[in-house]
Amino acid sequence: MQWETVIGLEIHAQLATKSKIFSGASTAYGAEPNTQACNVDLGMPGVLPVLNREAVCMAVKFGVAIGAKVAPRSVFARKNYFYPDLPKGYQISQMELPIVGVGKLTINLGDGESKVIGITRAHLEEDAGKSLHEDFHGMTGIDLNRAGTPLLEIVSEPDMSSAVEAVAYAKKIHALVRYIEICDGNMAEGSFRCDANVSVRPKGQEKLGTRAELKNLNSFRFLEKAINLEVERQIDIIESGGKVAQETRLYDADRNETRSMRSKEEANDYRYFPDPDLLPVELDDAFIDAIRETLPELPDEKRQRFEADYVLSQQDAVVLTASRELADYYEAVVATAQTDPKIAANWVSGELAAALNKEAVDVVNSPVTAELLAGLLKRIADQTISGKIAKQVFEAMWQGEGDADAVIEAKGLKQITDSGAIEKLVDDVVTTNPKQAEQYRSGKDKLFGFFVGQVMKETKGKANPQQVNELLKKRLAQD
Ligand code: ADP
Ligand code: MG
Repeated sequence: MQWETVIGLEIHAQLATKSKIFSGASTAYGAEPNTQACNVDLGMPGVLPVLNREAVCMAVKFGVAIGAKVAPRSVFARKNYFYPDLPKGYQISQMELPIVGVGKLTINLGDGESKVIGITRAHLEEDAGKSLHEDFHGMTGIDLNRAGTPLLEIVSEPDMSSAVEAVAYAKKIHALVRYIEICDGNMAEGSFRCDANVSVRPKGQEKLGTRAELKNLNSFRFLEKAINLEVERQIDIIESGGKVAQETRLYDADRNETRSMRSKEEANDYRYFPDPDLLPVELDDAFIDAIRETLPELPDEKRQRFEADYVLSQQDAVVLTASRELADYYEAVVATAQTDPKIAANWVSGELAAALNKEAVDVVNSPVTAELLAGLLKRIADQTISGKIAKQVFEAMWQGEGDADAVIEAKGLKQITDSGAIEKLVDDVVTTNPKQAEQYRSGKDKLFGFFVGQVMKETKGKANPQQVNELLKKRLAQD
């Protein structure tokens, strides 16, 4: 039996407002517990919520960015449930009339392949507080700093058919919300969270299978792993004659497994009803158009421009436009170095990205600035150094040892291009290794690499590789 995977994602993006969605308390991350929760967030009797205009603007900005219909009238509703970190006994959310309606998003899958994913809706809601289970010895601590933080919940259609597609979608939404500056995208701090709904069905079947909802996916890697695990688990169940239960499952990264959290039968009946404390939100076209005017160049537009202007593959362009900051860095390198944009792309998405990743540094704080990298690329272009030596220079620049020219000078890394000098080295290497030379001449082609290696060793990698190759071929052809 062939199986087909079906995935729909629910993404919670924390909106980057200074204050909460219905109160003036700060949303800054990392404060002492319960120092940023006012009477509204605490659910005190007699207090009234006041809608944060900025949160509305941000939701609208998302709506126009995905080409969705922004609702002229949306309504806040109470979602009732009991939980210790929800003092009011209900969460203010949107149910029947969300602020953002149907839209779509194109994801890029490499090799120039794309797919359009439907977005069902996006609605505004408040976050709950946090229950803290560590350090309280048999008790639970409650921190209400997060209570009332504005969230945009973005719900997709079940349009994705693999973990790879789900990750591409999540990354695209992540890039988009950061481009339009409505969310900082910090997954470690919980500003961007994904729930994945996963089901399987026999290939060709129209009807969707029963889904499980995977919670607690706070990195793209976990998202991918958890989906793959869940797909395997569901196929195993069905193939051994069982039935998949509709339930919420938790992904445990330490054990790399998903486990049941609650079944749909035990699920709450939330008794949604319109919140009588809040007026419906009515937006006219002028308001929406004015926000549309503020949109920057969006990830897709930037990607297409990069592909066209710099002659890059879609894959390269996707990587370089993952954030505005990285894209800006790349464009600064190209403009300053005035060299092949493809080589610049390789350096930015290769050496630089690896170093940033390894040291957990943001590109805007990179010790190797765009100007420094451009200086290095110039020295590769004019053959002062080889691409290989350039990696050494990059490392030194990363350690703060100055610009490319200073490092090349200080470490004596200048490429040897004097063909007389290289010819002499080549001759030495061939005469001191007569056995290998003979073997090479009798057909052991692989030994050519040995000779190149010897010359490079003598020059600490500084000989121009092209010249070494040519002169070695010539020399080995003689007896
Ligand atoms: P709920 O209200 O229980 O969260 P929704 O109908 O709003 O359910 O769906 C939530 C998410 O689950 C959406 O992203 C949707 O695309 C996805 N989804 C719904 N049915 C399936 C299914 N059978 N398989 C995979 N995903 C699904
Ligand atoms: Mg849901």
